[in-house]
Amino acid sequence: MDKQHAKNLQDQSKVIHGGSHVEDHMVTRAKTMPIYQTSVFVYDNLDQVEDYLEGNPHNYMYTRLENPNHRSLEQALTLLGEGEDAVIVSSGMAAISTAIMALVEAGDHILVNQEAYGGTISLLNNELSRFGVEISYIAMKDHKEVKKHIKSNTKLILTETVTNPLLNVVDIEGLGQLTKEKGLLLVVDNTFLTPVLYKPLNHGADLEIHSLTKYINGHSDVTAGAIIGRKDLVNQCRRVYRNVGSSINPMEVWLILRGLKTLHLRMKAHSENSLELAKWLQKQPQIKRVHYPMLEDNQGYDLAKKMFPKGCGGMLTFTLHGGLKEANEFIKKTDMFAFAPSLAGVASSLSHPGKTSHRGLTEDQRQAIGIYDGTIRLSVGIEDVQDLLKDLELTLVSLS
Ligand SMILES: *Cc1c(COP(=O)(O)O)cnc(C)c1O
Repeated sequence: MDKQHAKNLQDQSKVIHGGSHVEDHMVTRAKTMPIYQTSVFVYDNLDQVEDYLEGNPHNYMYTRLENPNHRSLEQALTLLGEGEDAVIVSSGMAAISTAIMALVEAGDHILVNQEAYGGTISLLNNELSRFGVEISYIAMKDHKEVKKHIKSNTKLILTETVTNPLLNVVDIEGLGQLTKEKGLLLVVDNTFLTPVLYKPLNHGADLEIHSLTKYINGHSDVTAGAIIGRKDLVNQCRRVYRNVGSSINPMEVWLILRGLKTLHLRMKAHSENSLELAKWLQKQPQIKRVHYPMLEDNQGYDLAKKMFPKGCGGMLTFTLHGGLKEANEFIKKTDMFAFAPSLAGVASSLSHPGKTSHRGLTEDQRQAIGIYDGTIRLSVGIEDVQDLLKDLELTLVSLS
């Protein structure tokens, strides 16, 4: 397919045709991109090497640097995210560490959403702080509050679109205006939404980050990450990932490209199922509180409606009236929701934030953000919603 034509397609078509340009440069004309399971590529002469090293994008040299499968997925994600370029790496954490290493240096200050993913906080506290990067964790509900924390050495703001596990919605456009006005960079981890439901690059973000491990691959069988955005910034990220060596196996890239083709259908099903379960859970006597942005009583409801007209994905958190014992009973009893502390696969799963992602916090710190012993996070899959409802009903009834 012609590159210019691909740009004019709808997302549902982009996910299917987005990765197909690279194959135009290959000799076999295979309909599906072959897996280039090779660590190195052959050159005929010095001129060809020169051509590659001078930046000819149709040549390849060494898979740690890049591989046709890498470029194929990078093109697809660039198209879908409406960025200028993308790089893919071996995990979501590799994407976050690569982006931050590319953008900051010793002495710089970064503002991080206090509800950031646990791995992100660990990376910043244990690694980047050792290299002289100054970090402040702040609430990002109100960008006027964020503004107060900007210092002369502040370089960037890092946040997720919707936070884990309480699904608080962040006003990316407001932050985008602030970072433009102050000459800062805005880096958005958009893993929970995917570009099918929200495109941060069209709302002021400079870089968009994904754990491809989650919805974009969607089948719980690959670990990978991506950075999409402005060409100059992505090029800096590319340099870092090549030097650090966090490249990904071509076979895994191929699997992600296959997963991507159904992303549009999956996100629709995840969003519809979650909304239905969230509304139902709200009415159950065993449940104290349900967190889902599309519920009218959610504090981020108005923002969510504006930002996510197509739905807001499959993450849904609730707190039981009971405590640890009841949460454990719930985990043991449910058949449809496997206790697997990851998320975003086609099959439903659940996690207990207090005992997994947020176990490093004290009980007081957890309660201050709204995570209790009875708090359970669901990753709602794309099964038949009645089967999920029935299972939740049987599980909840067994608690009381
Ligand atoms: C899982 C996740 C990550 C980390 O991704 P990995 O692929 O596990 O390294 C980062 N951010 C968010 C929001 C995630 O859910």
